[in-house]
Amino acid sequence: MSTTTAREASAKQIYWIKKLAAQKGIDMLDGHDYERAFDILGETDKFVSSMEASSVLDKMFAAPYLKVEDDVNEPGMYRVGDTIFRVQESETGNLYAKRLVVEVNKKTGKKTGTLVYDAGAIREIRNLHRMTKEQAIECGKDYGICIVCGAQLEDPKSVARGIGPTCAKRV
Ligand SMILES: [Zn+2]
Repeated sequence: MSTTTAREASAKQIYWIKKLAAQKGIDMLDGHDYERAFDILGETDKFVSSMEASSVLDKMFAAPYLKVEDDVNEPGMYRVGDTIFRVQESETGNLYAKRLVVEVNKKTGKKTGTLVYDAGAIREIRNLHRMTKEQAIECGKDYGICIVCGAQLEDPKSVARGIGPTCAKRV
C-alpha cells in the first residue's frame, strides 16, 4: 500500500464530471480515466483523487457536445419557458437564435420588440419548443407586436391578426 495521501476529488469536480457526462457522454475517455469517471458516475465507494478527476475533466471539456436527437434543426419561432426565440440560418448554413426582448414605453404604454442575438441559446432550443402559428398569433395579440420581427402592430388588420402579413408566412 502506498502511504501518500492524495486529495480526494472535490464536490465541484464531481459536479462537472456528472454535468459533462450528461451533455457529452464518456466515450471520449479511455483506460484509467474511463474507470475513474465510471466510479464517480456510478457513485461506487472507490477513492478518486483530485488529480484523477482533473485528468478526466481535461478530456471531457475538450470533447465536443453530443448531437441531441431533438436539437432544433429548422428556422422558425420557438418558446423555451417564457422566452421567445427566432431561429434563423446563417449564410454558412448554421442555425442561430435571436431572443425577443419586449420593452414597454413608460409614457405611452406601447410595447416594442427587439430581436437580439443570443450566442448560447441555440443549444438549449429543441424541436419540441417550436411554436405553432396559432401560438405566435396569440403571443402577438398579447404583446401588440409581431413576435417574428418585433415590429409594433399598428395596422388594424394586423392588430386583429396578431402577426404582420409577411411574417405570417415565416412561422
Ligand atoms: Zn413581423
